[in-house]
Amino acid sequence: MGVSKLVLPEMTELWQQTLEWSPNSQQQRQFQHLYQLTLDGNRQLNLTRITAPEEFWEKHLWDSLQGVALLQANTPQRIIDVGTGGGFPGIPIAIAQPHWTVTLLDSTRKKINFLQTLVLSLGVENVALLCDRAEQVGQNPEHREVYDTALVRAVGPAPVCAEYALPLVKVGGLAVLYRGQWSASDTEALQSAIKPLGGKIDSTEIFLTPISQSVRHCLYLRKIAPTPKQFPRPVGVPAQNILGATAVHRQSR
Ligand code: SAM
Repeated sequence: MGVSKLVLPEMTELWQQTLEWSPNSQQQRQFQHLYQLTLDGNRQLNLTRITAPEEFWEKHLWDSLQGVALLQANTPQRIIDVGTGGGFPGIPIAIAQPHWTVTLLDSTRKKINFLQTLVLSLGVENVALLCDRAEQVGQNPEHREVYDTALVRAVGPAPVCAEYALPLVKVGGLAVLYRGQWSASDTEALQSAIKPLGGKIDSTEIFLTPISQSVRHCLYLRKIAPTPKQFPRPVGVPAQNILGATAVHRQSR
């Protein structure tokens, strides 16, 4: 059997136990189709190393949705996924929450082209695509301070992710940073990085993924004041000159 015949587990009970939600039959089909298209896309593009069915379910589908489990599902949300890559966490969220709108942002044209074909093929209508750098999008009035929630997973050190995400979020909105390991010193560095961006740490959630029991953290940053005009800084600067940085904090998930 070739890779293209692999089938995702449905995990209906595990979804229910862990997130108090489970996909309907259309969403199950979309998840399976997403898996298939990701495996196919991986032949041309370096989308993900996670290709085994259970691992894909846990580390892409479940992990993506766990990060937004605290948000009100019934309240329409305008979301942006910064550095979405192969569409995570944004695509599973768009499938699970059809009343939310999800903008997928990535600076790599090939990935955005792949995602364009993918969303058409999945029949997901609540997704917009944007090929640009987060530093530029954050200075664009069409996108600056218009989103309820910005999500960032595996894009770089937490203060860099915060500088990409917080300018895009309305005052009162959230930036969610998906992280692996996390420490008290990471919290300290992030706190000093986000103060000038108009953010504060609302909460830090730790959880174990439900199959391999891997440790994950989600940082929920509340935007409490408008972000000053000088942020995000020009392309490349946030990653080269990290806000509030010391060597210890240059970890990227
Ligand atoms: N978020 C996905 C995930 O968790 O699987 C993809 C992570 S991938 C390691 C990082 C992605 O961020 C890449 O696709 C890259 O092109 C994008 N990226 C990095 N810096 C960026 C920036 N400044 N603006 C927009 N996209 C960026």
